[in-house]
Amino acid sequence: MSTDTPTWTLTDGTTIPIGTMYCIGRNYSAHALEMNAPVPDDPIVFLKPPAAYRANGSTITLPAWSHDVHHEVELVIVIGLNTDGVSADNVWDVVAGVGVGLDLTARDIQSAAKKDGHPWAIAKAWNGSAPVSTIVSADTSGRGPWDLQCTVNGKVRQKGSTQDMERSVEHLVSYLSSVFTLRRGDCIFTGTPSGVGPIVSGDVVVASLSSIVSLEVHIA
Ligand code: MG
Repeated sequence: MSTDTPTWTLTDGTTIPIGTMYCIGRNYSAHALEMNAPVPDDPIVFLKPPAAYRANGSTITLPAWSHDVHHEVELVIVIGLNTDGVSADNVWDVVAGVGVGLDLTARDIQSAAKKDGHPWAIAKAWNGSAPVSTIVSADTSGRGPWDLQCTVNGKVRQKGSTQDMERSVEHLVSYLSSVFTLRRGDCIFTGTPSGVGPIVSGDVVVASLSSIVSLEVHIA
């Protein structure tokens, strides 16, 4: 495995080194319901390191210490300008582009961590847990809403719309920038609609964001 800093590739040809990956939990009420958990008053935020990233077309090795890795298809926002406080009205000024990603989650490990009140890092941030498509530049992507879909071996598992997010892209980026200095190359996984489920060796997982971009990964 390469230890070089991974980079985003944008449709306009730009490349940006990948920074911190901010991830939002329970941002769709139907998914919160299937997890038997409430939609929180404040966003649930967790992190993945750049090394968790995998590009479109990658083969991903599931961690040997988990027996229940789930797909979570999500809209991913890539930050293009450093900011330590952007208003919701000005969020798109700091967005480089959008893509579709899979927040691959070791659900058995996460469930044990939740039960014990421990952090989710092992369950959420392992090598390969963050495959993301090519990033569509913000000047051509539009600002949504977009349809999200995830298929496994050609069967639809998740189907949703970003218009069902409990908190909008504008709210999330503004909120995160009030807590963290967001830097060019950081990204935000914005939460998953319902229908999450297991993936196993040999699966082909395809995630799509309307018809603007898609991601295909193979499970080793
Ligand atoms: Mg998620």
